[in-house]
Amino acid sequence: MITRFVQVVQTSAREYSDVIFSRQCVGCDRLGKVICDNCRSLIPTLAQQRDAHYELWFGAPYESVVREMINAHKDHGVRALTQDLGMVLGRAVWSAAMSSSTTRPIVLVPIPPHATSLQRRGRDTVFEIAMKAARVVSDRGMPCSVAPSLIRIHETQRSAGKSVSERREVHGSFGVRPGKLILSRVIAVDDIVTTGATTNEAVRALQAAGIGVDSIACIASTAARR
Ligand SMILES: [Zn+2]
Repeated sequence: MITRFVQVVQTSAREYSDVIFSRQCVGCDRLGKVICDNCRSLIPTLAQQRDAHYELWFGAPYESVVREMINAHKDHGVRALTQDLGMVLGRAVWSAAMSSSTTRPIVLVPIPPHATSLQRRGRDTVFEIAMKAARVVSDRGMPCSVAPSLIRIHETQRSAGKSVSERREVHGSFGVRPGKLILSRVIAVDDIVTTGATTNEAVRALQAAGIGVDSIACIASTAARR
């Protein structure tokens, strides 16, 4: 009973904060839009390349208004920010694609959330943003789609009940759904990249399944390690 009461209070508090978040700018708290024109003007318009193990492009540094946008969208359900975040990711995807020598259709493969995060939020925010980014890139003239080919593998699922061929497709935390990605220009996408360990692990899982990864694109990156 007490547990149920606590859950109700927690849910109400979260919904209340979500209402507040949806009526004020995430950057400066000004009432009105989820992001005001002034804060939107602070979003970088040029993607940058980070010297990671794999070629990685990011739309903005993980700081100031972009960091607030990602967190409000992810943890407070401010879906009105999906379009703006899709624009930022779209610029990173575009830059990644322009730096590639191939011209095959682009397929974005989102890095999936942990099962606990998915359960708590009730949605896959990176997938939602990737869909917008694909539209942004397609509208600029490069065919681009999204394939949710990566799956998170629980520790207990890694070896139990799998054939040898299935096991070969699993690398660390990720598995790969079968699909026709081989003739595509695959770009792995995520919201935030910090150390790059998760994205590198995801790329290795795709490569272990025979899928070549052209590059990685994310909305925001912490300071580049050069
Ligand atoms: Zn603002």
